[in-house]
Amino acid sequence: MIPHYDAIIVGGRCAGAATAMLLARGGMRVLVLEAARPGTDTLSTHALMRGGVLQLHRWDLLDAVVSAGTPAILSTEFAYGDEIETVDIRPGGGVSALRAPRRTVLDALLLDAARAAGAEVRVPARVTRVLSERDRVCGIEGTDRGAGTFFHATAPLIIGADGRNSTVANTVGAPFRQRGQSSSAVVYGYFPGRPRDRYHWAYRPGVAAGVVPTGDGLACVWASTSSARFADRRSSSLDATYLWLLAEAAPELARSIGAAAPVGPLRAFPGRPGWIRASAGPGWALVGDAGYFKDPITAHGITDALRDAELLARAVLGAPRGDRALRDAVGDYERTRDRLSRPLFDITEQIADYSWDLAELRGLLRELSEAMRPEVATLRAFDQTTAA
Ligand SMILES: Cc1cc2nc3c(=O)[nH]c(=O)nc-3n(C[C@H](O)[C@H](O)[C@H](O)COP(=O)(O)OP(=O)(O)OC[C@H]3O[C@@H](n4cnc5c(N)ncnc54)[C@H](O)[C@@H]3O)c2cc1C
Repeated sequence: MIPHYDAIIVGGRCAGAATAMLLARGGMRVLVLEAARPGTDTLSTHALMRGGVLQLHRWDLLDAVVSAGTPAILSTEFAYGDEIETVDIRPGGGVSALRAPRRTVLDALLLDAARAAGAEVRVPARVTRVLSERDRVCGIEGTDRGAGTFFHATAPLIIGADGRNSTVANTVGAPFRQRGQSSSAVVYGYFPGRPRDRYHWAYRPGVAAGVVPTGDGLACVWASTSSARFADRRSSSLDATYLWLLAEAAPELARSIGAAAPVGPLRAFPGRPGWIRASAGPGWALVGDAGYFKDPITAHGITDALRDAELLARAVLGAPRGDRALRDAVGDYERTRDRLSRPLFDITEQIADYSWDLAELRGLLRELSEAMRPEVATLRAFDQTTAA
């Protein structure tokens, strides 16, 4: 017999695992399929903003992040050229510090929480086909690489949480509502011996760099420029490209790292312009990068994924029975996501364009900080409605 679920989620990292956990906590029968092996890393730095930390706190997962050795970030240093401005993290809503867990920690924790809530988790398992019946998505097919078997399952809702190259989004032909023009390239590596209690973001015309303290006594040190300039100047050695970028963006930081070798390999992302895609349709929804991706320069994708997991789960759990009601509910999710995301998307576009001078950039970062307020307010309001 073909197994049937209330929801099938394709992709089990921050967006998919969080959505699965919330739907399963709400009593739904959920299947999650993730192609990567458990506990593996992915191409991403991992600074969380307030909304992301708030979600982990609200979901009772923050203590586990802390126990994994993820340090407390108490302030953010902005270096505009040689001028440094420090902004302290204001305690509030259960968040006294920011955190930047490695994806090996965060994604595994969320997937464990989904499993603990009753979701069935298959990993590594790749979905190869999304099935439809009478213009409605109704199931998936794929291979369970762990068990070496082919599988087939059905559900009234298939959720694509399968990242930037989403099979679900591409199969349903989710239209692009907005497409970005700018993109930045990022190179990063891990180093010991950096300060543990602050994010450090450094900017000079055309370049940026940052330090993100994380577990195992390490910090992620990244450097970035526009994709076009990166493609132009990239040499055959990634080490040399990294040192060039770091020295331009943050000469002090480059000097203090000197000839130290990173722990593990350097990783590079050449960049890709962002998008907002339609994320709700008959029998399907998209969450995380599958539906909404923006340039990593504003370090907000994970925070957004955790926010949108809850927006989607609440909409689905609150929907009356029936296909029509479910479709309306995921439509509401998409509208709320778009309302909260568009300002962040537009500001990110301007920052990733790298055509600013330092005064303009300072203004854009202030706007970015303002644009984060409505999402934090939305997440906090959830607790008031739940309590009521
Ligand atoms: C260089 C870089 C730096 C970044 N830095 C930050 C940062 O500092 N802070 C921040 O908040 N965000 C950052 N981001 C953004 C962040 O990485 C993404 O927004 C986030 O990973 C989105 O999560 P997701 O769960 O939607 O997708 P992903 O993390 O991409 O996960 C999707 C999962 O789906 C699985 N999958 C795909 N297809 C299938 C299939 N057919 N079957 C089964 N499984 C499938 C994949 O294996 C993958 O594990 C960065 C991104 C990049 C590229």
